[in-house]
Amino acid sequence: MTHAGLSGHAVHERFKRFSHLIGSTPLLAIHFFFRGSHRTIYAKAEGHNMTGSIKDRMALHILRTAYLNGSIKPGDRIVEATSGNTGIAFAAIGRALGHPVTIYMPDWMSQERALLIQSLGAEIVPVSRDQGGFLGSIRMTEHLARRDHNVFLPSQFSNAANVAAHEETTGPELWLQLESLGVKPDAFVAGVGTGGTVMGVGRCFRRKNPKARIHPLEPAESPTLSTGHKVGHHRIQGISDEFVPAIVKLDQLDAVLKAHDGDSILMAQKLAAGLGLGVGISSGANLLGALMVQNELGPGAVVATVFSDDNKKYLSTDLLREEPVMPGYLSPEVELSDFTACSGVYLHKQG
Ligand code: PMP
Repeated sequence: MTHAGLSGHAVHERFKRFSHLIGSTPLLAIHFFFRGSHRTIYAKAEGHNMTGSIKDRMALHILRTAYLNGSIKPGDRIVEATSGNTGIAFAAIGRALGHPVTIYMPDWMSQERALLIQSLGAEIVPVSRDQGGFLGSIRMTEHLARRDHNVFLPSQFSNAANVAAHEETTGPELWLQLESLGVKPDAFVAGVGTGGTVMGVGRCFRRKNPKARIHPLEPAESPTLSTGHKVGHHRIQGISDEFVPAIVKLDQLDAVLKAHDGDSILMAQKLAAGLGLGVGISSGANLLGALMVQNELGPGAVVATVFSDDNKKYLSTDLLREEPVMPGYLSPEVELSDFTACSGVYLHKQG
């Protein structure tokens, strides 16, 4: 069923409270020494968003777009299958807008995640492996939406507004921040969960510089993008789910990079203990991916990425345990020196 969307003015009034809470994140320049040269890699500090992750941008943009086109109406229940940052983002932003929120979640996820989502007023439906795990939970939400027209499914893996969120905010912010430092990006790297970040920032950068390299990244232990299906297990939460998302167009991107989960953990640990930057495991992976591209392009290449979240949701994971160094890891060779920070830029936002 479709409804007329709210007017642009009404949507603006509803959403303006978020404009100082989501997006406009600082840009960090991480300075380090690697194989005989001084290096810098740039990363957006996405832990500064309202609920502590980059997924706030996607949740906000999907909901705002849905209000404008009438696919959600006040009071509808927001229902999404997810295990992590997306659930937290939809719970918080959905409740702020007065919506009931239900999150379908694999029952083997850590209790701290479920509690966090519940504390934000959302209901959790646990889904077991026997019920089909993550893919099963997506099918369950679709079944529910067919029966109940007061249910709104954000469908982050296939919703174009996910890509648009990054094309219209993360990408332009990053470009402007780099410009303010007097540099232009040669490449952007991002680990792929839904692929919204890499596709959206990629589109923005390629419009400004068609030669910009845009690299997706996946865990070496579970290479879903390069095989087309789920393989193995990995510990980089938030990236590489059980399938290649519909919004990911690999033919529009450069080569898929692979980071080891142990190396990503060591890199994230190093950023926290060495520079005081408490980031999640996928941020460690992204820094390693950016380093791989820089090694290929030359030590002076301007390579940017995102630190997707902070370390607080990983307190019960291997991020807080001792991680063995394995042959081929890059993080042991990274000698962090310091970092500088560039303030967030406010884009002209509608709605
Ligand atoms: N890192 C973390 C911690 C995440 O939660 C996500 C989102 N699942 C990503 C990276 C990947 O972002 P995207 O969904 O935009 O590909």
